[in-house]
Amino acid sequence: MPQQPLAQVPTDARWFWQDYGSCRSADPLLFFHPQNERGSARLRRDRAAKLICASCPVRVECADYAVRAREPYGVWGGLSEEDREQIYARLDARHYPRREGEGARAAAREIAEAISPRALGIA
Ligand code: SF4
Repeated sequence: MPQQPLAQVPTDARWFWQDYGSCRSADPLLFFHPQNERGSARLRRDRAAKLICASCPVRVECADYAVRAREPYGVWGGLSEEDREQIYARLDARHYPRREGEGARAAAREIAEAISPRALGIA
């Protein structure tokens, strides 16, 4: 099991995009798993959150922040905790993306796949 990363807010983090997030009017409990949630319940909740992210106008900015900050919890930019763990494992820790936009570029494939029909359970 990969070691849980510690979130590190990038020094150039900006938050304007949060004002435009589609989750502002959604149930926040959809985006963060309750303690001991497992299996199909977790999959269903993650997919419901991803569906909201899929049409969010600031999804790339949100995913970029989460990757750069190594956010350990929640669905961000359509990326689940498991999605991000795969990204963290793939990226080189010595040259980890920290500047604005670098996270989105480094994880472009995963960010796109996160809201694919397969990921949303509609394939
Ligand atoms: S991408 Fe998802 S988590 Fe991020 S602001 Fe949009 S709706 Fe919220």
